[in-house]
Amino acid sequence: MGKLVLGLAVACAVGSCAIAAVMVGRRVRSRRRWWSVVRALDEFEEAASTPVGRLRQVVDAMAVEMHAGLASEGGSKLKMLLTFVDNLPDGSESGIYYALHVGGTNFRILRIQLGGQRSILGHDVERKPIPQHLMTRTSEEFFDFIALSLKEFVERKGNNLQPSQVRGNDLGFTFSFPVKQTSVSSGTLIKWTKGFAIDDMVEKDVVECLQKALSRRGLDMNVAALVNDSVGTLAVGHFYDKDTVAAVVIGTGTNACYLERADAIIKCQGLLTTSGGMVINMEWGNFWSSHLPRTSYDMDLDAESQNPNDQGFEKMISGMYLGDIVRRVICKMSLASDIFGPFSSKLSTRFVLSTPLMAAMHEDDSPDLSEVAKILEETLDIYVVPLKIRKLVVKICDVVTRRAARLAAAGIVGILKKIGRDGTGGITSGRIKGVRSGKLRRTVVAVEGGLYTSYTIFREYLNEAVAEILGEEIAPYVILKVMEDGAGIGAAMLAASNSARSVDTVQVL
Ligand code: ADP
Ligand code: MG
Repeated sequence: MGKLVLGLAVACAVGSCAIAAVMVGRRVRSRRRWWSVVRALDEFEEAASTPVGRLRQVVDAMAVEMHAGLASEGGSKLKMLLTFVDNLPDGSESGIYYALHVGGTNFRILRIQLGGQRSILGHDVERKPIPQHLMTRTSEEFFDFIALSLKEFVERKGNNLQPSQVRGNDLGFTFSFPVKQTSVSSGTLIKWTKGFAIDDMVEKDVVECLQKALSRRGLDMNVAALVNDSVGTLAVGHFYDKDTVAAVVIGTGTNACYLERADAIIKCQGLLTTSGGMVINMEWGNFWSSHLPRTSYDMDLDAESQNPNDQGFEKMISGMYLGDIVRRVICKMSLASDIFGPFSSKLSTRFVLSTPLMAAMHEDDSPDLSEVAKILEETLDIYVVPLKIRKLVVKICDVVTRRAARLAAAGIVGILKKIGRDGTGGITSGRIKGVRSGKLRRTVVAVEGGLYTSYTIFREYLNEAVAEILGEEIAPYVILKVMEDGAGIGAAMLAASNSARSVDTVQVL
């Protein structure tokens, strides 16, 4: 009997030891998995880091590439396109003007009434999402949709005028894709970006396509200005504040433009403008430099994109991509461990995590990060995630956004450096001057785009980095001003200032 009891006791002890060992083993393994994820996060953070020294290298690279792009056609990944906009609106414009803005996810139609003296007397805007299927169909279908939407808008808002009565109305057209401009109101599409792929449009004159669609719909309107969204933003910035010298758009995609001296546009010899300057559309989304902190996630995103080896800067910065970088990091962590529970196939779906959702997780200020939990569950099918994992997700969002904002900031300072507004001597003959120049001038950069205007942490990181790179002596002279809907309003203003001018102000001798 005694032996039996002893035997049972030993068996129980062995059993509990075994259970304990299994549990300890599990805990050790789970701790190991946790640490491997933490290590992966650290590595990602390190690879994506943007200390100010690295940002200054990006600043210099941007200025040098700008110079190279102006020196010769194809001299840089920066196209540095001529816009034929040599005079920016100055506030004296008046009358009613329409504008169309085709860019990223949304399409906008505007009607503004300018009253001179820097005033806008009336402003109507309508936003419409572009139906996904039209982004990859034919140019005719695409422009028919736009013309029809404009027609309906004119009918609704046009002071009860029938479209046929709207004669001679000048229209500004903001088309936020790379266009080789041939005059202020004509230009051919170089390539699509941001998920658009209407193949028959490439190399066609976009104004001609629009103008034809307008006639098909019976709208007698004249496209007086074809501009890029960044140029429109610069125009509206300048309308309000004459110290505005550059504009940056950070929304679904990203781009920038600035006012350059005509004689610095070396690739266009004999360029004469009445103002002595011309707005250059940088197409900075395609900027590239070995100083950019690229990670394996960026490489994968690029390789799987519709435009591999293209728009490298845009893919690190803009709203189309940030959420997807976060998704990729979470996906890799989930494959390497079970910290997110069983692997969710949603994690393999490109663009399933949009940037606004990522921003909502990043900006979740509830104590238990309930918004993070909700988005993980609803968007990624990841259920019941402990708080420390939710914090990890927030951290991933932070790394991605901080890098994007700081790189955009470096790009902005790069432009200022190119035109000698960063407190240094600027750039001549492709060489950076490192010396501080004496005179500091108030410099305004107009900023537009949903990422900057709606994502507070992104905006704060960007503003902070501009000040950090410039240093406290120069930073107070540089002002970033939000121009909401600037792109469209600016196009209408440019239509106004161009229709007012009867002579061509740009000549190439
Ligand atoms: P578009 O660039 O398409 O012309 P917007 O300038 O309005 O349009 O920018 C829209 C983009 O901005 C979205 O694709 C998204 O990436 C980003 N965005 C919009 N709202 C937010 C938000 N609340 N948080 C983060 N990103 C946002
Ligand atoms: Mg836009």
